Amino acid sequence: MSRSSTTLKREATLSKTAKKVKTVKKVAKKAVRKKPVKSKKNESIKAISIKQIASQIKPTVTIKRNPLGHLLMEKMFREAGFRGGISTDKKLLDAYSTDESIFSVRPQVVVQPKNRGDVEIATKVIAEQTKRFTSLSLTPRAAGTGLGGGSLTDSVVIDVCAHLNKIGEVVEKKGKITFTCEPGAMWRDVEKKLKKHNAYLPPYPASKDICSVGGSVANNAAGPDSLRYGHCADWVESIDVVLHDGHTYTIKPLTLREYKILIKQDHGHSRIAKEIFDLISKNEKEIKKNKPETAKNTAGYPLWSVMPEGVAKFKKGIGTFDLTKLISGSQGTIGIITSLTMRAEPIPSDTTLIAVSIFDLENVADSIVKLLKYNPLNVEIFDALTFDLALRNPGFFKNRISKSIYYRVMFSLYTTYHVRFRRKIPEFTILVTVDKETASEHQPEVIAKEISGQKIKARVVKSSIESEMYWQVRRGSYTLSKMQDPTKRPAAFLEDMAVPPENLSKFFVQIKRLLREFNVTAAIHGHGGNGHLHFYPLLDFTNKTTPVLVEKMADKFFETAVKFKGNICGEHNDGIIRTPHLSKIFSKKMLDIFKQAEHIFDPDDIFNPGKKVNPRFDIKETMRTNN
Ligand SMILES: Cc1cc2nc3c(=O)[nH]c(=O)nc-3n(C[C@H](O)[C@H](O)[C@H](O)COP(=O)(O)OP(=O)(O)OC[C@H]3O[C@@H](n4cnc5c(N)ncnc54)[C@H](O)[C@@H]3O)c2cc1C
Repeated sequence: MSRSSTTLKREATLSKTAKKVKTVKKVAKKAVRKKPVKSKKNESIKAISIKQIASQIKPTVTIKRNPLGHLLMEKMFREAGFRGGISTDKKLLDAYSTDESIFSVRPQVVVQPKNRGDVEIATKVIAEQTKRFTSLSLTPRAAGTGLGGGSLTDSVVIDVCAHLNKIGEVVEKKGKITFTCEPGAMWRDVEKKLKKHNAYLPPYPASKDICSVGGSVANNAAGPDSLRYGHCADWVESIDVVLHDGHTYTIKPLTLREYKILIKQDHGHSRIAKEIFDLISKNEKEIKKNKPETAKNTAGYPLWSVMPEGVAKFKKGIGTFDLTKLISGSQGTIGIITSLTMRAEPIPSDTTLIAVSIFDLENVADSIVKLLKYNPLNVEIFDALTFDLALRNPGFFKNRISKSIYYRVMFSLYTTYHVRFRRKIPEFTILVTVDKETASEHQPEVIAKEISGQKIKARVVKSSIESEMYWQVRRGSYTLSKMQDPTKRPAAFLEDMAVPPENLSKFFVQIKRLLREFNVTAAIHGHGGNGHLHFYPLLDFTNKTTPVLVEKMADKFFETAVKFKGNICGEHNDGIIRTPHLSKIFSKKMLDIFKQAEHIFDPDDIFNPGKKVNPRFDIKETMRTNN
């Protein structure tokens, strides 16, 4: 049964038993009063809140929900043995009301599990109590840097970063590097540990200094090196996940033999595996038809990746059955990750940067397509506005570049503009990294020569200072956007569209036209090799007309991406913003298959409802009202 029908039914039953409810309310009030949150664990909740509570956060739009279940939560959790922090402190709830998205949704309760056992308890309590109080649900949150509102909820938020952040040893065995960590482990801490082994996690997102590994896998994040190395999901060896029955299961790719052994067992994981297998077998054609054409995608549930060789081949023992591909990128909608084992790669050595300055927009797509032939490690881009903002705001880089080289990097920025570009900023700058592997076959100088043309100037960057300059501008693009008008916010809602790289030039032209049409500016950057653009129009969220503008813009821009065989959701996932638009890229039948997949994992829709399927947040009502 879908949530909406069960919800209605249960709410009706609830109103009939109003008398009973009154008693529950009394108990709830007593419980809340009797058990103020004083323990050490709850102090840690306060510590986080102080760090996060932005004084400017205004009260958020709250979806009308039945508060009773939430009032009872602490009592229920404690009675079930939950050891971590639980709070309904107003300021804390405000702090968890926002992430890096344009939304603001206030949770009713924040819990911080101490360990896996606590996650299991929380799941069991919510699963049980949702039968009485249908508005209860459980939404995992890690570092809260998501750009689509994925971790926002109006019910119970379960913060995995507070305690579930341990990182195990890095293991090097038979040429393979792996490590295990809890979901709240920060990417930067894992990176430090891996560095000691000269290794790194290739799909690192640009937010790697502020995000967690668990949140990144749950979003199926990606970054510059994803051009060669794919998304986070491609680096998962196995995932421990608490499923809807409140038990933890280790999920990993299975051979046919392992799959057969699993489905003979009697538990949640085996039922889910069997039912997902049947769902894919029954709908294989439709699933294949709906597989996005872009290399990068985080929209929907990637059922096409579960048996990548196809059902018939899997039945003959070829390939694997891999549910980690569904859990990665599921945004906490089908289970809660409690541990991850991931592979890592040796850090690429002897890399060379080629900077390609494109003075005519028309040449972007061709140049990128030519560059892709050389199997570069990454192909990144930024536009003229980004470069211009960098030139006009040297102070912006002061805290981002080490003191010893700051002036030299800035000198490089200005000489590049005045001398090399003769004060004409390229429409786009493409940064191409080639590693030893590529360079041994194709000299970087030869690649640069091949790419160069009348309005295309490509050159090998030999100075580390110049290289730092280019990367600083590329990485700074999002924050530099704010410099145009600090009273506005660079709004994340159009920031994740991708098109096949050969369509990039035409797509750019349309994007620029639409930006002019809506009278907004946005600095553009992104992962050119994947045809993937990030841009954040500057909007004023205190203006009452902004929500309508956002809806209109989203419609127009997304349709444009689809027209160019593109995708609206390359790496930042569906969240609140893109879930209602999935019908633009998937067939009705496919959307229904996604719903069925979600329902197989989460029959009572207890995990993060309203994301990826069954959208339930009104985009206009839940939009933030401050900048
Ligand atoms: C400046 C900036 C740059 C960014 N650059 C990139 C980029 O280059 N590439 C990219 O992909 N993203 C990028 N992002 C978006 C975001 O930082 C990443 O997606 C990041 O990986 C999210 O990690 P997090 O720890 O903040 O997760 P959160 O935002 O806390 O959570 C992400 C999602 O995962 C779910 N979740 C969290 N923990 C669990 C769990 N234990 N089990 C199940 N589900 C869970 C949440 O419910 C939510 O839906 C950027 C964001 C910012 C602000």
